[in-house]
Amino acid sequence: KAKENGKSQMEMYTSDVDSQTTKRFLLENRMRKALDNKELILNYQTIVDMKTNEVTGVEALIRWNSPEQGLISPLDFIPIAEETGLIIPIGTWVLKEACLQNKKWIDKGFKPVPISVNISPKQLEQEGFVQTVTTILEETDLSPSFLCLEITESMAIKNVKNSINILRELGKSGVQIAIDDFGTGYSSLAMLKHLPITNIKIDKSFVRDMDDDMDNAAIVRAIISMANSLELTVTAEGVEKAAQRDILKEENCTYAQGFYFSRPIVAEKTEHYLLRS
Ligand code: C2E
Ligand code: MG
Ligand code: MG
Ligand code: MG
Repeated sequence: KAKENGKSQMEMYTSDVDSQTTKRFLLENRMRKALDNKELILNYQTIVDMKTNEVTGVEALIRWNSPEQGLISPLDFIPIAEETGLIIPIGTWVLKEACLQNKKWIDKGFKPVPISVNISPKQLEQEGFVQTVTTILEETDLSPSFLCLEITESMAIKNVKNSINILRELGKSGVQIAIDDFGTGYSSLAMLKHLPITNIKIDKSFVRDMDDDMDNAAIVRAIISMANSLELTVTAEGVEKAAQRDILKEENCTYAQGFYFSRPIVAEKTEHYLLRS
């Protein structure tokens, strides 16, 4: 009897932790199956040239369509995928799927544009990442210049030396590299010089209020002018209004992306936005 009591007390004590762990465990198991069951899909969002208004790129964004939980945002499952290591097979799948899709579009006669793929730090640090990318490009027969890897600022400076070397190797192979969410991390501006990047993406938190928040507008202006001086192209994320687009255009921002131009949508719908070459 005493033993039973002891046990139930123990259970009470750990029940919170247990349910958390169970939730995680369930989610992890579902995620594992999600890949096999084709519950993961890619949406695509266009990137627009500010001067010509033409689509100059497309970003692949993952979605999880879970039969148990419905549509799950990457913000909710990518962190768990990173913790559990599942980001490696998921990330490889995303890369392959995005390259396949881009090759299909090019073969269908659309104007070739790079496809942007978000890369998690775990992937970059994974041994053989350069080989993974190279193999996928070979298998899908996509030219490296039509792939752009998006690395978030905070991760690009973690493990600096190693990351720079990997990015350099990829850059040499012709793959484009963009710094995502720029302004939210803490990389020094001097660092940018040493990173083999071609594009900077201004985080949407600065773009969001730039039409009525002077500070955000100033930050956006500063990033654009810095990028221009470094001869890097610059993309504003999260453009939702004409007013934002107008300011960005005036400030010589190279590209823009956001709901104002197009939401992330499935591949077939994206074709309406792509230009015939
Ligand atoms: P991100 O790479 O910065 O992607 C841009 C996010 O902003 C996307 O959110 C997109 O839907 C959203 N967005 C685009 N335009 C607008 C706008 O005008 N207004 C607002 N409010 N939001 C806009 P999403 O698709 O939920 O993705 C969130 C983040 O999840 C991404 O941020 C990226 O860091 C990560 N992610 C998405 N797909 C992948 C993937 O395949 N692999 C990895 N490792 N991370 C991914
Ligand atoms: Mg991105
Ligand atoms: Mg990102
Ligand atoms: Mg971003």
